[in-house]
Amino acid sequence: VTIELGSIDVIPSPDRPGRVRLVGDVAYDSGPVKREQFWFEVAEEHAASLSRTGNPWLVCLAPLAATLGERIRLCLPVDRVLYRNVREVLAIWRAWYPTIHPVEIEASTVDPCPEESGPRSAAFFSGGVDSFFTVVRSAQPGQLPVDDLLLVGGFDIPLSNPEAFERHRASLAAAASELGMPLVDVVTNLRQTRLKTAPWGRLWHACGLGSVGLALENRYRRLLIAATWDYATGGPHGSHPLTDALLGTSGTRVLHDGATHTRVEKLELLATSPVALRHLHVCFRAGTELNCSACEKCLRTMAVLDVLGCLPRTATFDTRAFEPAALRRVMVPTPRSEAYYRGLRALAARHGRRDMVRAAGSAVRRSRWRRTALRLPAWLADKPGLWRAAGPLRRRILVEELAR
Ligand SMILES: [Zn+2]
Repeated sequence: VTIELGSIDVIPSPDRPGRVRLVGDVAYDSGPVKREQFWFEVAEEHAASLSRTGNPWLVCLAPLAATLGERIRLCLPVDRVLYRNVREVLAIWRAWYPTIHPVEIEASTVDPCPEESGPRSAAFFSGGVDSFFTVVRSAQPGQLPVDDLLLVGGFDIPLSNPEAFERHRASLAAAASELGMPLVDVVTNLRQTRLKTAPWGRLWHACGLGSVGLALENRYRRLLIAATWDYATGGPHGSHPLTDALLGTSGTRVLHDGATHTRVEKLELLATSPVALRHLHVCFRAGTELNCSACEKCLRTMAVLDVLGCLPRTATFDTRAFEPAALRRVMVPTPRSEAYYRGLRALAARHGRRDMVRAAGSAVRRSRWRRTALRLPAWLADKPGLWRAAGPLRRRILVEELAR
């Protein structure tokens, strides 16, 4: 069984004037869908930078083929370094995850001269802590400079909500202009294609970003992907220092940036950046350019900014109702996420904030109890006659901590 890229084309966007799409026609010989189009859309001024090679297509089809256990056949040549490195990525995934299948790749390879690569470097930019850190740090001496901020539409905010994406884009365009860098936005339907059957966070987060960057490979010599985890806490993940660095070509390098710092340390740098404080966007629950200010991600970020004394200078959080006690109620989702709270406690202790030290410790202890308790409704859920109790019990555990 094969996933085949049959042809590509560049066409005017059917949805937005002044924009063009790089469209790839992908055919499947298994499954309910026989054929679909994958596309990347940019402003017309970037049309000449759009890729004419198989590179972006290999990077986005690899996680799909590895999930489905199918062969990849590409009608376009692939950079020889990328062809070698994607097979390395596939081997790493197989070592990490037992459900990943081996994949054969049928494509011709080429050795382009490095001079043919684009002159610029870009950092993927969502407005969150990791990408803001990469961008703010890039201006420091000794760091790799960044020319463009690359915003992807269709990843964090679904294509079905164009108004929310437009508000997010406008806010980040303002941040980019304050930083003196152009914001280049690429909209893609990758997450609406059959790729949605492959796990985004665990497997193809960086392949999604990498394929977007390589869709503009004629513009870029370097692409920076902001690290999700630091070296001490990271493990197998869809964006990882080992695999991200293998997603580039002879002409366009992909770098995993910022794993040297914990998220608390990243926020310490952002606390010195008025632009970051004005535009920091960590949560998409509200569906606007604002953070919801109530979820675990928002509260833990607000807690660090509160300890650093700069919460009142932020513009995207509702800071009026924030108090350390709110942090006690959050659900720390996994043991790996506890590292953030250890960092927060150490920071709070250094700043003499005993209230925040206690709140962070309490959040971790309660969450451990709740993660254990949640196994019961998970067990009940597929038991005949008992499954009805699972939902209410689960909700009770997730709310019950308020009383504990
Ligand atoms: Zn939130």
